[in-house]
Amino acid sequence: MQIAESALVVFSGGQDSTTCLFWAKRHFKEVFALTFDYGQKHVLEVRLAEQIARQAGVHFDRIEAPLIGMLGRNSLTCSDMEMDREKPADTPPNTFVPGRNLFFLSIAAVYARERGIRHLVTGVSQTDFSGYPDCRDSFIKSLNVTLNLAMEEQFVIHTPLMWMDKCQTWALADRLGAFEVVRRDTLTCYNGIPGDGCGHCPACKLRREGLERYLQQQRRGSGEGTAGQPV
Ligand code: ZN
Repeated sequence: MQIAESALVVFSGGQDSTTCLFWAKRHFKEVFALTFDYGQKHVLEVRLAEQIARQAGVHFDRIEAPLIGMLGRNSLTCSDMEMDREKPADTPPNTFVPGRNLFFLSIAAVYARERGIRHLVTGVSQTDFSGYPDCRDSFIKSLNVTLNLAMEEQFVIHTPLMWMDKCQTWALADRLGAFEVVRRDTLTCYNGIPGDGCGHCPACKLRREGLERYLQQQRRGSGEGTAGQPV
C-alpha cells in the first residue's frame, strides 16, 4: 500500500540503503535521498549514490559533514588506520564510525522537517549488524522518541531491513525489481570497489554470502526463508 506522503531515505549508495530507496518508492508518493559526505576514504560512494538516485527518479541531495568522520577515529575515514579483518571479541570493529547513524538521522530529521516530511527511512539491520550498536532496533526506537521530543514533531523512522539477513535483503531487492541495480551499481565494499567488490573485506563477505544463499534458493526454486513475506 502506498502512503500519500513523502519519505526521506538516508542514502549511502550501498546495498542496504539502495534496497530501502526502492522500498520507499513503492510505499511513498515522493522520495528524497540524502547522502552524507562524512570524510569517507572512498568519495566514489557519494558519486555513485547520486547516480543511483537520479536513475531511480528520486530527489537527491548531499550534505557535507566531515566533522562526523573526524570526531571518532575509525578505519573508514582515517587513512593511516588499517581495517579490522575480523570483528574483535568485545568491541565494535574499527570500521565503526562512532555516532554516525545518530548524526545522520538527526541531520536528516531537521532536513526533512524543513520540507514538511515526517517519514525517515534507514537501511540499518540488527540481524547483520556487524557489532555496530547504532544499527540496533532499541537505538532507532529511542532516537525516534528523542527526535520527536527535540522538535515537537511526529517523525516515523522506518527500518525495512531491521530483521532481515543479507539473503533476505537480496530477496527484497528482487521483489522490488531492483536486483540488477543493487548488484551492479551499489558500493558496499570497504575497499571502494563497486558491484561485487573486492570479495574479501568484511562487507564484501557478508554481501557475497547473502547473495550466494539467495541465488541458491532461486536455483532450487524454493524461495525458502522469503516466501510469503510482504514487500
Ligand atoms: Zn570489499
